Amino acid sequence: METKPDLRSLSISELKAETENSGEKAFRAAQVYDWLHKKSISALSEMSNVPLSFRNYLAGKYDLYSMEKLKKLKDEEDGTCKFLFKTIDDNVIESVLMRYEHGYSACISSQVGCKMGCVFCASGIGGKVRDLTAGEMLEQIYEMQKAENVRISNIVVMGTGEPFDNFDNFIRFYEMITDKDGLNISGRNITVSTCGIVDKIRELADKKYALTLAISLHAPNDTLRKTIMPSANKYRISDIMAACDYFFEKTGRRVTFEYSLISGINDSAECAKELAELVKGKNCHINLIPVNPVKERDFVRSGTEKTADFKKLLEKNRINVTIRRGMGKNIDAACGQLRRSYMNGE
Ligand code: SAH
Repeated sequence: METKPDLRSLSISELKAETENSGEKAFRAAQVYDWLHKKSISALSEMSNVPLSFRNYLAGKYDLYSMEKLKKLKDEEDGTCKFLFKTIDDNVIESVLMRYEHGYSACISSQVGCKMGCVFCASGIGGKVRDLTAGEMLEQIYEMQKAENVRISNIVVMGTGEPFDNFDNFIRFYEMITDKDGLNISGRNITVSTCGIVDKIRELADKKYALTLAISLHAPNDTLRKTIMPSANKYRISDIMAACDYFFEKTGRRVTFEYSLISGINDSAECAKELAELVKGKNCHINLIPVNPVKERDFVRSGTEKTADFKKLLEKNRINVTIRRGMGKNIDAACGQLRRSYMNGE
């Protein structure tokens, strides 16, 4: 399908430039922005106070990449909702809304599929289809707010996709979501997770945003990491660590390391000790995630005891560590699983 650029990805100053180009008054830019980002309309015709001539001008150059809700699964116990959305070109993506005591948190996708190929992850099984636009990342948040009539205050970019393989759109998304004309969400309430694209970690650090950086580590050395994360062939742990130090230096923000525990693969006492050695003295936090079994793979999550032992060994070395609280257990499908089962017609 031929599509024009996404109108919802334009910044307010880019919209202003379009008012100039078309001979329209500058204040129309703010009106259009409000329709797109506050009212999150799904068709240009809904902009009732914007002259038809300007709407037509915009429609000639842009499309509105809206998300159509295909499915919503709700865990009645903890309020977690998983959404499946259809994109303008009929791709399917998933997003999650989680309810915490301090408010609502959204987990959004950054790409359709993923090319990183981590062996325990369902998102990478079909490869990458395409990048999501900044507007499509925003749309996931807008549509979930609308569907549940809530205000989202926290965002984690931990859904399908590698955000640093779509870096420019991620940056645009970040600028727009933290903007006073948008949802005005504080950078402190945003976390971006990467498998460790070193040059982009450094580029992000230079921007000095107040966001949280999470690194999917999952192994304490390169040899083991290469067996579960193909990206480890390109990016060494030592280089990732140096980039994280640089991020901390530039932003003063503590980095989070994610470590999914897979039974018999990376959950031994030796692994815990090696991990402790690796991060010792760093101002960081480790998040242990008992791996979610993926139907297409035969990985098993580490048991409760093994997980607790692993945590204890880290704590003994005075490392900040938590075990990720399982959300949405009753509707659970590991990362990317819901999308996969939908596409398989289940
Ligand atoms: N591509 C980014 C963000 C998406 S994945 C990244 O790699 O960080 C979000 C997190 O979930 C990552 O830490 C990823 O490794 C982890 N993950 C993926 N599949 C998982 C599974 N089946 N069980 C537990 N964690 C998983």
